[in-house]
Amino acid sequence: MTSVVSESIDGIRDVLSRAGESIVIGGKPGPSASGELIDTHDPATGEAIASIAAGGAADVDRAVSAATRALGSWQDLSAAARARILYDIAALIEDHAEELATLETLDNGKPLTESMFLDVGIAAEIWRYYAGWCTKIGGQTLPVSPPVGTSFAYTRREPLGVVGLIVPWNFPLLIASWKLAPALAAGNTVVLKPSELTSLSALRLVELVNEAGIPPGVVNLVTGYGHEAGQAMIEHSGIAKISFTGSTATGQRIVTASAASLKKLTLELGGKSANIVFPDADLAGAAEGALTGIFLNQGQVCCAGSRLFVHRSVHDEMLAVLESAARDIQLGHGLADGTEMGPLISPVQRDRVEGYLRSGTEQGATLVCGGQRPHGDLAAGNFLTPAVFSEVRDDMRIAREEIFGPVLSVFAFDDEAEVLRRANDSEFGLAAGLWTGDVKRAHRVAHQLQAGTVWINQYNMLDPAAPFGGYKASGYGRDLGEESLLGFTQTKSVWVSLD
Ligand code: NDP
Repeated sequence: MTSVVSESIDGIRDVLSRAGESIVIGGKPGPSASGELIDTHDPATGEAIASIAAGGAADVDRAVSAATRALGSWQDLSAAARARILYDIAALIEDHAEELATLETLDNGKPLTESMFLDVGIAAEIWRYYAGWCTKIGGQTLPVSPPVGTSFAYTRREPLGVVGLIVPWNFPLLIASWKLAPALAAGNTVVLKPSELTSLSALRLVELVNEAGIPPGVVNLVTGYGHEAGQAMIEHSGIAKISFTGSTATGQRIVTASAASLKKLTLELGGKSANIVFPDADLAGAAEGALTGIFLNQGQVCCAGSRLFVHRSVHDEMLAVLESAARDIQLGHGLADGTEMGPLISPVQRDRVEGYLRSGTEQGATLVCGGQRPHGDLAAGNFLTPAVFSEVRDDMRIAREEIFGPVLSVFAFDDEAEVLRRANDSEFGLAAGLWTGDVKRAHRVAHQLQAGTVWINQYNMLDPAAPFGGYKASGYGRDLGEESLLGFTQTKSVWVSLD
């Protein structure tokens, strides 16, 4: 285990030593059926920190059976009793916040403050938000039109059954929470598969979920590779719905594989979000928003504001501010004091990002700063210095494809209609941002941007109550908010004869 882990953080060593038994089925941890293990690494040092169980089809099958058996025990509980368990999970997450945040930083690389306040902090709020929903899932009485007094009809919102949740590596605890909590609030039972790169916080979360008194088998964890455990889930006929966050390519594979059993799907996929700075904006605020918009979590964020459109009249001034701020960002181990940016998740991801850096330069963009591997203490990790490109054309690969790394492309624009057209000229439509002092322009532009979320004079805001998901190739369905909850239900119309 890496030496930067504080001795004072109880439990971390224990969790790492339990990782080989990360298949949790019916409330009981165990190894995978094959007995195989996958090493998980600290991306800041390259050191192996633990080995998790490599689950496969046999483990998924056992997990689905346990989840099917547990449906009764979960749905027979009163809504109030289910709510109490979800509230208890939120409290346990907060009680173990430091431990969870440390695990997340060790496994993913992000700075500890980010893990603590964003990932763990919002995760706890999400559990609390959906705990409140347990007692508020109602139907409607319907104004049906057979002769008055002969029929009455109403709807019920019923759970789907066993649902499969497939979670990526960029916000492991947070995304697991935002899929688990609404699925459970709606009365479903669950099989959860985290990314094999970052399974430790999911293991600890599922332990806490069981500690909170959820009936055994309601939440099952199968760790392992996407092409093995994940693929077994999307093909399993006992799973009624898959909620997935990840790449567009894997999303497409899920659509195809799930066709045989006609699974319901929620897909939150890639993005290439536009962030637009109008000349009347507060430029200091816009620069700060642009920087967090792209460099949060090393740019490995589906809604990252990777295309920054700046009005030509303030373009050079803005570019100078961005360059200087990007050069000042302190890279380091996520657990080290003062670290503002950690490493990328894996050598593969860094290679992928470097490929985009090369393509940007080859296609004629100007690399203003960054994009280098740092030397010295950080050389063994997957670090890249934050990069800013200018002189980017809309048809370049760095302008069109999701990079998922700390790379910002800056474009100049001249007028509102032009920037709207260029912002919307993308296969993706996950999010967008705009910065202006003109309230009319703010709403006018927000309404015309083709994106599932638009931020005005801010970026990357997230809340349990606000639905999150994409237009176009960014997916369908929504995470968070009431919409996510309803996506884990099906509607039944009940007719009653009054004759
Ligand atoms: P993937 O889409 O492959 O991974 C996301 C999740 O899907 C992981 O849990 C993965 O498991 C799982 N998975 C992979 N293959 C299958 C499958 N056949 N069936 C079911 N589940 C599967 O993304 P990558 O990790 O390969 O990242 C590649 C790119 O994807 C990034 O560069 C980025 O552009 C995008 N991405 C987008 C995310 C978002 O938030 N929208 C999040 C992550 C990536 P495992 O990791 O164990 O293989």
